[in-house]
Amino acid sequence: MRYISTRGQAPVLNFEDAMLAGLARDGGLYLPEAIPAMSAGAIAALAGRRYEEIANEVMRPFVGDAFAPDEFREIIGKSYAGFGHPARAPLKQLGPNHFLCELFHGPTLAFKDFAMQLIGQLFQAALARRGEHITIVTATSGDTGAEAFAGLGNVDLFVLLPSGRVSEVQRRQMTTSDAENVHALLVDGHFDDCQAILKDMFNDFGFRDSVKLAGVNSINFARVLAQVVYYFSSATALGAPHRAVDFTVPTGNFGDIFAGYIAKRIGLPIGQLVIATNQNDILHRTLQTGAHVKHGVTPSISPSMDIQVSSNFERALYYAYGEDAAAVAHEMQALKTEGGFTVSQGALEALRETYASGRANEDETRATIAATRRTAGEILCPHSAVGVKVAAEHLGSNPMITLATAHPAKFPDAVEAATGVRPPLPNRLADLYERPERATEVPSDLGAIETLIRERIQR
Ligand SMILES: *Cc1c(COP(=O)(O)O)cnc(C)c1O
Repeated sequence: MRYISTRGQAPVLNFEDAMLAGLARDGGLYLPEAIPAMSAGAIAALAGRRYEEIANEVMRPFVGDAFAPDEFREIIGKSYAGFGHPARAPLKQLGPNHFLCELFHGPTLAFKDFAMQLIGQLFQAALARRGEHITIVTATSGDTGAEAFAGLGNVDLFVLLPSGRVSEVQRRQMTTSDAENVHALLVDGHFDDCQAILKDMFNDFGFRDSVKLAGVNSINFARVLAQVVYYFSSATALGAPHRAVDFTVPTGNFGDIFAGYIAKRIGLPIGQLVIATNQNDILHRTLQTGAHVKHGVTPSISPSMDIQVSSNFERALYYAYGEDAAAVAHEMQALKTEGGFTVSQGALEALRETYASGRANEDETRATIAATRRTAGEILCPHSAVGVKVAAEHLGSNPMITLATAHPAKFPDAVEAATGVRPPLPNRLADLYERPERATEVPSDLGAIETLIRERIQR
């Protein structure tokens, strides 16, 4: 399997090299040259199997010969062994034909664990084989699952967190690691600032090559691939491929919902794929009007969706523009220099064929947390509540699956304000508030952060 850039000017790579590279050298994002299809029979045969087996069947064709079959199977096994639920991504029923897919049973209680645990194991295997050391820098609006890299000898991990704009649980999960290779940097800025610094860092080729910079942010295609799996496990549990299912996805950087698009292209019968945004609704506005224009970021109680630059949306645009890399490069340049662009009429129609959208404001999010507890006995995190609210507006004849992206205990203040109940952390994280924190405050400045990274690595 060969991987190409959405902007068409970067080297074509195999799965392993695209994974280790993260961002393509032309500023674009890697995608498989062709999306391998699965027959209805092969999809039907996934129903009821172990999550790990479904993961192997779904991901294997994308990996090609980058990892041997037995090695890949073993890596999948290690990746999900630390999850707190035997189904890994269990379904709960919220109402007639409305289901919740709980993606928060991993080590950091958010869906990002599905991808990060896998990518940590894949990196370790690939680097050990090559005898290489790399530097991973990741920007996060809260959840990263990046602790998957803690303690790996051939990796230094730097996490850029927007200072004061993530919940205490989210911060502590990054700052309380006792692994020496984990470095939490509290950036004086928003998540979009962190993401912009990260992009600029990747475009500083001198720095990028000297520290062997690798990206594991949600732009990494290996992460998207790992997220494709739970679309298959949940949809087949509800009758796919014999019936179509709909999904609603609390969306920020567009990685999770884009995995749903890949699942559909592989052959999973997905009817609606619904983008749910909070008040930072650039994606909802884009679908409605065609104008992809940045407004400021307004902090919300669902901080992991507080963004206006949605990196993986570039991948959706690539397909909407009929795989025209030059057109994508042109729009991305306009986004950078002019703060926005208007999606062409043809591309907008293509987007609307694939995606629906909706938004939830803060009051609606709180009301949904309270109502869902009352009616279904389920306590939602604010991100999942945004999803449930928007899903309720899109219920049709297919089963609707809303992805629950984080555990409510990661956002105890918001949940308590909405329900009067403070959700407890699961036992395995119960001492999080007692663990000592270790973090460095840094300005929102590329040069300063690059200098700090160089110094830390040399130590
Ligand atoms: C990252 C995150 C999201 C947004 O997912 P994207 O793939 O960036 O769209 C939603 N909810 C939670 C809890 C998250 O951590």
